[in-house]
Formats: sequence, structure tokens, C-alpha cells
Amino acid sequence: MAAPSRGARRPKPAADSPGRRLNTNRSKTDPIANPLACRPPACRVGFGNDVHRLEPGRALVLAGVAIPFDKGPAGHSDGDALSHALCDAMLGAAALGDIGRHFSNRNPRWKNAPSLIFLKHAQALLRKAGYEVVNLDATVSLERPKLAPYIPLMRQKLAEALGLDPDRISIKAKTGEGVDAVGLGAAIRADAVALLYQGTTSVVPKTRMK
Ligand SMILES: [Zn+2]
Repeated sequence: MAAPSRGARRPKPAADSPGRRLNTNRSKTDPIANPLACRPPACRVGFGNDVHRLEPGRALVLAGVAIPFDKGPAGHSDGDALSHALCDAMLGAAALGDIGRHFSNRNPRWKNAPSLIFLKHAQALLRKAGYEVVNLDATVSLERPKLAPYIPLMRQKLAEALGLDPDRISIKAKTGEGVDAVGLGAAIRADAVALLYQGTTSVVPKTRMK
């Protein structure tokens, strides 16, 4: 390619082009308005997953929401696989270990404990380390029952627990298509990712909820 001739000017971005839009004071520092602001180490991503066997007589709880069903996850705590996966994603993004490191399943204190307290504790650890959650995204895999009717309430519960706007929390649901432990109705699985931002918390509003 020929070198640009001396004195050649770079064309200015059009008024509505992405390059022009990034040139505002807000978007320069806001990782949501401007993904280019997410340069390491400002932004960090974490992944978490969790699987529980389903047993008769156990309550099925996801994100603190009790869902009527004849089986629920076996576990030391309430077996809330979604909260556990989110917890691992948040801790993982900050390299703070995993849920088992902070909440041993041998500790009687956590017997049948509501897992939202694990999430709140994980968030407190993140904040101590200088991080705020930008957004969370999770998928729950469960053959039955259908989770779609409960997803808005699950997002709301998580939003309240973490002091985040619900639009920063995504939950999807899938079946196991009749195969594997999930598909055979023997297990529940949750996978989650978390994006954290390191810096002034003013660019990541904690909440708009009352
Ligand atoms: Zn778990």
C-alpha cells in the first residue's frame, strides 16, 4: 500500500459515526457506553458453573425464588445452582477463588443457608478489592419445570440482593434435550459469566431501584 502523501489529512468521522460518539466526556470513562474503555486491568471477566443432583423432597430454589416442583437440588446449602454459578463467576473475575473456599460445605453455619447471602458476601469481597459488577449473564439448564415464568422475579431478586439495576442481570433457561443428566431430569446445571470494572464506582451506578 502506498504511504499517505505528506500533509494528507485523515478524514473526520461523520457526525453520527461510532468514532464521533466516543468523543464525549461521559463515554470516555464509561465502560458500558464505550467498550474501548474496558482496557486491562480496568475490566475483568469471570466464569462460573455448578451442577446439583435433583432429589425428591428438596425445594427447588433459583436466585432465591422457590419454584414449585417435586424435586430439588441436593446440597449442603439450599442448592441454588444459579446463585452458586454467579458467585463463582464474580469471585473468578477478581481471582478471589471460588465459592467453596469462602463457604465450606463442612461448615454447619451454611447448612440449608439461602445462597443469596453467598452472592452478597462475594460482592462485598469484590468491592473491598476495588471492583464493581458491570453485568452478569447466566444460563440455567433444567429439563423440567419450565423456568421462563420465574425469570423476571429471579432477576429482580438478584438485583435487590446485589443493588444492581435488573438490566445488568441476564438469566436464560434451557432444557437438556432429553440427554445427559440434565436431560434425564437427574440434575440441574447453571453457567454464568460476570464482567467487573475496576475504578471509580461512579461510572457503574449501584442501583436505580428503590
Ligand atoms: Zn452449588
